Amino acid sequence: MDMNVPFTNVPGLFIGGEWVKATGEHHVIVNPATEVAIGTAPMGGKDDVDAAIAAARHAFDHGPWPLMSFEERAAVMRKFLAILQRRSDEIKALLTAEVGVVAMLMNGAQFGGAIAASEYAIKLATRIEPEPLALEFKPNPYFAGRDIFATGVTVREPYGVVVGITPHNYPLLLNLAKAVPALLTGNTVVLKPSEFTPFSALFLGYIAAEAGLPPGTLNIVTGGPEVGQQLTADPRVDLLSFTGSDTVGKAIMAQSASTLKKLHLELGGKSAMIVRADADLQKAAAMAAFSFTMHAGQGCALLTRYLVHNSIRPAFVEMVKAIASSLKVGNPADPSVIVGPLIREAARRKTAEYVQIGRDAGAKLVLGGGRPAGLDKGYFHEPTLFDDVDNRSRIAQEEIFGPIGVVIGFDTDDEAVALANDSRFGLNGGVMSANPAAAYRIALRLRTGGVAINGGTGDLFVQAPFGGYKHSGIGREFGPNWLNEFMAEKAITYPIG
Ligand code: NAD
Repeated sequence: MDMNVPFTNVPGLFIGGEWVKATGEHHVIVNPATEVAIGTAPMGGKDDVDAAIAAARHAFDHGPWPLMSFEERAAVMRKFLAILQRRSDEIKALLTAEVGVVAMLMNGAQFGGAIAASEYAIKLATRIEPEPLALEFKPNPYFAGRDIFATGVTVREPYGVVVGITPHNYPLLLNLAKAVPALLTGNTVVLKPSEFTPFSALFLGYIAAEAGLPPGTLNIVTGGPEVGQQLTADPRVDLLSFTGSDTVGKAIMAQSASTLKKLHLELGGKSAMIVRADADLQKAAAMAAFSFTMHAGQGCALLTRYLVHNSIRPAFVEMVKAIASSLKVGNPADPSVIVGPLIREAARRKTAEYVQIGRDAGAKLVLGGGRPAGLDKGYFHEPTLFDDVDNRSRIAQEEIFGPIGVVIGFDTDDEAVALANDSRFGLNGGVMSANPAAAYRIALRLRTGGVAINGGTGDLFVQAPFGGYKHSGIGREFGPNWLNEFMAEKAITYPIG
């Protein structure tokens, strides 16, 4: 057991502003790079879920939080954020050991992006004000001679109890992407992280208590699908904000249907990058190599399907191979490592199975394909690239969530767009071209929530809305309208004079 990982000795679940002993089974949590235990995590049982929802409900219905002004709540959340930053070394050490985050990504989305997103949400919250409606002036159809002369305002108010359910891959970013905007807008929250990364959520209890969040405003319950199921089916919950796979997204829709909640779903992807014949090949190859290997392929928006003009496809493949094979794979505790482990053995095995599925379908394995040499412990998989892939095959259609990229040839822009859109997902996309107008035209035709031209600013740009079409989700996270996901509009109208 590695006893040195911060925040792995939590006293229980965080419910109603207190640490409460969990009634579920405890889980041993392992470091995915070493398979060594880092702690034993409490897991919520039925009564804990019930208590967490009751605490959030009470804090909303009777607490001060929803009635506070945006500025007052923002002041508390600024404190919350300042504490996170003050304790950044401990948090980063936890993310390294629990999630397998490499140094490069820590400064990016995993920690730096989480802070940037929260700061941005605070900025948005302090700008929310009632918006005046137009003046209405017309003859009254019911009382002749008494004109209607009226106006009003639209106010935005919290939904009530928000449940946030998050995956294992970017836990801090996504836990904050649920909790921070929900809290800023006056909701109360029950947060349920992935069963593989409980500590990256539970530690927020310490931060909430120190920041002075009123009891019951933020509750944290750990557990797996059963806990998630209970949270989504409870009538006391008003809004579900979920990030995870499309399979679970669909289950959540069904589970919550009879209680008619508002749903916000951020789901999976199999995003395509179109490389036109005129693209900067070096840049396109580097983008590809970093994309399918980033966080060992455990990213929803990664560009993992490369649609490459046939005239440059052989050169592209050679360059991607050269770059990807130079990336150091290993334990993220080593700051020179670029590709870390998968979260668990099941994810490593699933990735290996997809290598076989690709081979069986006749795709050409051009890089990797197995366990990296010298890494017998830890859930590692080599960066793996297939060429000559059929877009209808499983390795081109299914989200693998491991470091596998697939290359598919095309001859015309129309063909590239058709191939890109021939997917049940629609989260992200990319176009590489020396002709920005042609790339923009293609971007408009892609059925995806985002498109990065020549690298774009990346999906780390929190000021851009992020989300999917089709099986990639419903709603948007981040961007200028982000906080509206957590608020209902109310029209208050009144006559004048
Ligand atoms: P997952 O769908 O297996 O689990 C996500 C969460 O749902 C976990 O907390 C899990 O315990 C919970 N859960 C499982 N079954 C449930 C049920 N029946 N009811 C309620 N909750 C349930 O996902 P994962 O493996 O943790 O993460 C990977 C997935 O997340 C990928 O598909 C990835 O694309 C997606 N993801 C999407 C985004 C985005 O913003 N679109 C971001 C990150 C990850």
